[in-house]
Amino acid sequence: MLVNATQMLKAAKKGHYGIAAFNTNDLEWTRSILLAAEATQSPVIIQCTSGAAKWQQGFKVVRDVVNDLVDYMNITVPVAMHLDHGTYEDCFKAIDAGFTSIMYDGSHEASFDINVEHTKELVKLAHSKGLSIEAEVGGIGGTEDGVTAQGELADPEECKAIADLGVDFLACGIGNIHGPYPANWAGLNFDQLAKIQALTGELPLVLHGGTGIPKEQVLKAVSLGVSKININTDLQLVFARTTREFVESGKDLEGKNYDPRKFLKPGFDAMQAKAESLIRDFGSDGKGWDF
Ligand SMILES: [Zn+2]
Repeated sequence: MLVNATQMLKAAKKGHYGIAAFNTNDLEWTRSILLAAEATQSPVIIQCTSGAAKWQQGFKVVRDVVNDLVDYMNITVPVAMHLDHGTYEDCFKAIDAGFTSIMYDGSHEASFDINVEHTKELVKLAHSKGLSIEAEVGGIGGTEDGVTAQGELADPEECKAIADLGVDFLACGIGNIHGPYPANWAGLNFDQLAKIQALTGELPLVLHGGTGIPKEQVLKAVSLGVSKININTDLQLVFARTTREFVESGKDLEGKNYDPRKFLKPGFDAMQAKAESLIRDFGSDGKGWDF
């Protein structure tokens, strides 16, 4: 059974560890993530953008695949199905499809007032149906799913205003970027994070663009109130790299390795190993239903 992400993130905040939210692209992606969560006995958030949902033929397919795999694989740890960077319209679609958690990203709306207005409405709707909801203040740098932002730092007062609407966790730009980090990246802005944390109190914060941030910086962010760490590019990179190595080694030409179950297996195994190592880095291993 899928759960919402509220309790697991509250427990993470209290216990000073982070929970990974992995983006999925297909059934095998989801399977690798679930194997990693089960092996480490960690709660996990599986999330999907509308672009990745379109690729997988809709929100309902994504949700049903996650739900059915949890059942078929006898997954014993809590799993939340979360919408990543949803528009106002996407949120309704994901709720209808049976997601247990949504993110409304109002940081690209024409004004902060629109962000507030939509967040307020969606908080009410999500909570009436037992879902958790994430909101965003201040764009996250880089490009994800065609959405680009300038890597601004979130305004702490705006974070407080959105937090006060009753969201369950909040994404706020603190210098983080989607996709690989440039060599001249300035790092996370911990002063900004501390200012935001001071005004948002117990609310779990979300670190987007988790790939490539040095481990010490992620752990420091966790110590300052970050409880959810979004991982997308990391698994894509490890899958692509491992598949490339398999082909370049010529192993794809041996026996029946053209069979997709063999051809893609090294990549999926590598993704699972990467997910397990990230979960251990963030300290959510063994936390299971510890809430
Ligand atoms: Zn993001």
